Amino acid sequence: MMKLLLKNLTDITAQRENTRLAGSVVTALYQLTKVHQIRVHDIFSLREELFVQEKMFLDEGRLSTIAEHTDDDPKEPLSNFPAIAECMRQHKNEHYVIDSDGTHVLWLPVWLHGKVNTCIEIRHPHAYDVAMRELIDGVFAIYCNYQSLLDYSERDALTGLFNRKTFDEQFSRHAFAIAPHEAHSVDNNERRHSGNAKSHWLAVVDIDHFKQVNDQYGHLYGDEVLILVANILRSSFRSHDRIFRFGGEEFVILLRSTTLDDARKIFDRFRQHVQDYDFPQVGNVTVSLGFVSISHETPVVILGHADQALYHAKKNGRNRICYYDELVTSGVLSPEISTNDIVEFF
Ligand code: GH3
Ligand code: MG
Ligand code: MG
Repeated sequence: MMKLLLKNLTDITAQRENTRLAGSVVTALYQLTKVHQIRVHDIFSLREELFVQEKMFLDEGRLSTIAEHTDDDPKEPLSNFPAIAECMRQHKNEHYVIDSDGTHVLWLPVWLHGKVNTCIEIRHPHAYDVAMRELIDGVFAIYCNYQSLLDYSERDALTGLFNRKTFDEQFSRHAFAIAPHEAHSVDNNERRHSGNAKSHWLAVVDIDHFKQVNDQYGHLYGDEVLILVANILRSSFRSHDRIFRFGGEEFVILLRSTTLDDARKIFDRFRQHVQDYDFPQVGNVTVSLGFVSISHETPVVILGHADQALYHAKKNGRNRICYYDELVTSGVLSPEISTNDIVEFF
């Protein structure tokens, strides 16, 4: 038992990524207690409403995982999960019920920064004995502590947004990779500029004349502006999108599965939110933004294109958004020869 416990703890603490961490926690819970079923639920907001989506399911020792959710995956309103809703409402650490069929169900919400994004559901045909509960509670406590440590390492201390390191890891892991049926559809490519084909988008945002804010009001006010812009970013995008502080006063947004028309609207709405915001002392601040659709180019090339579009926005008056492909089509920017073309040529 001791050996099994140590092995599982080693596995848990070797993880550096949320899904894998949850996987090793579920495996540990099963191996140590032999509970009948374990589910891991994601809880997220979409247009101000809370939804629940199953992320992982373990049944009699077999584990299945849904790595990345899309907008089209089945999701249920939080109201379908009264146990999770009650935990969140009353700030509870667990909820225990016996179902009508006699199943003993234990709900364990993971609290992080006063919010619940994950909840574990354990189902067993019999009551949990003391030893079982001690193991479940112990493993769960380690999970919560470790999750909080992992979260801390993924975020930027000033704004709480994901940091550059997390961007590099997530973007190169192709967490935002386009689904195969989308990628190989010629139709999709042809419609790429027409505005109604869905794609993922990457935007680079840079605060305009930020050096002046620091020079005129001091670094502390500069920091305050960065925090407020981060808050505007958080409220302007959906929880499926990802926002990173890329460096000083630069941010990157990964926008999931929308049409060009919608991407343009969403990015411009954010730009407008910043323009309309009354920053304490500083008054008005604006941002420029360059965006591009996430293609099969390398991350470096995609980021480079968004940067070129941003540069164009800066050169043409700032406080505006520019779309890379449009700048190329209209002849303002010249496309570089992509590595794919070179390979095909030879
Ligand atoms: P542009 O419109 O061309 O982007 O002009 P800019 O002044 O924003 O551009 P520049 O890159 O010259 O200035 C960025 C400034 O951001 C310089 C640096 O002092 C400031 N900065 C970078 N990181 C931080 C930070 O964490 N806090 C504060 N207060 N300032 C920062
Ligand atoms: Mg800059
Ligand atoms: Mg700037």
